Amino acid sequence: MATITSVRARVWTWKGPTVPPAGNFCTNASDILGERGDAMHSFRFHQWLTCEVEASDGTVGLGNAALAPTLVKRAIDDWLAPLVIGEDPFDHAMIWERMYRRTHAWGRKGIGMTAISAIDIALWDLMGKLVGKPVFKLLGGRTKARIPVYYSKLYAGPVAAMQEEAAAAVKAGYRAFKTRFGYGPADGMAGMRENLRRAEAVREVIGWDRDLMLECYMGWNLDYARRMLPQLAPLAPRWLEEPVIADDVAGYVALNAMNLVPIAGGEHEFSVMGCADLLRRGAVSVLQYDTNRVGGITAAQKINAIAEAFQVPVIPHAGQMHNYHLTMANANCPIAEYFPVFDVEVGNELFYYIFEGDPVAEGGFLQLDDATPGLGLTLSDRHRAHFEVME
Ligand code: MG
Repeated sequence: MATITSVRARVWTWKGPTVPPAGNFCTNASDILGERGDAMHSFRFHQWLTCEVEASDGTVGLGNAALAPTLVKRAIDDWLAPLVIGEDPFDHAMIWERMYRRTHAWGRKGIGMTAISAIDIALWDLMGKLVGKPVFKLLGGRTKARIPVYYSKLYAGPVAAMQEEAAAAVKAGYRAFKTRFGYGPADGMAGMRENLRRAEAVREVIGWDRDLMLECYMGWNLDYARRMLPQLAPLAPRWLEEPVIADDVAGYVALNAMNLVPIAGGEHEFSVMGCADLLRRGAVSVLQYDTNRVGGITAAQKINAIAEAFQVPVIPHAGQMHNYHLTMANANCPIAEYFPVFDVEVGNELFYYIFEGDPVAEGGFLQLDDATPGLGLTLSDRHRAHFEVME
């Protein structure tokens, strides 16, 4: 039996070239304070955390997280690693409970749960490698021949450029597209028209046989969202994502109950019970927990079962391997988010630089290999010179 001998958390800070998008490429929770521009970048999206859990036979499981990496590293090093070392990785449910209950006073949401997530993902990768199976085969196996993905970019910018980008994505075979709004309550009616104009422009290019998703990244408030929904409904969006801040669950409930546009959210919700609460209250029509924040794959699988009972589809936030494995293994996960490979802009692209093994979408689908054990990711040496790595 292999036991866990070490847990190594590292923070990767990108020092290479970036192509920053426009200041209002996407609304965010600080817009309402009039701090547009710098605020989005202050989230330190150009940092990533990797977590390597090593077993006594030398096998290493690789997990990751991208929320406040320096703080998450501290939580892993100081608090969680000692709870994990010496355990059998296949006792992942008990390991999870111990991490959860021993950090409960301070760790239920945010940093603590993100640290648990990074370790849990590494444990699943480790289990897969130890038995020689891909993680999705341990989670339920293949539920689809390949994974449909949606094109996630189309940041708010000049209308012509957005249409050009959308046209190229249509040509590449994508059948679903997510665009970001650039304006919120501080921009008044004029901003509303700008938002609407861009959503209409993308719909015009992709036509009516493809899906349109709309992203607010918590940049609106309830009043603003209430007024936007009737204007957006004629565009038949598949969903409107995070219209208000994550704590305003009552706002999500009110907007979803309008039945004009399906409301999506959950990437800033944490834990099984947090997501169960969203489902029980009818806050979302599409649940988008983030696997590396919500408690890892162990928590994600429990949430998947609950969401299935509510008949709410789950589309995990962000395009990363752990999400692809969950999507493959769950019939209630119909499509995955996918960031097309581009230069480093807002930071979502960094995993292409830190890791090797992420599948590349072709014709709007991606595939997982039945033979590669674990999650199928390794740390890449190719771009190491562009990173400052904190051990
Ligand atoms: Mg989002």
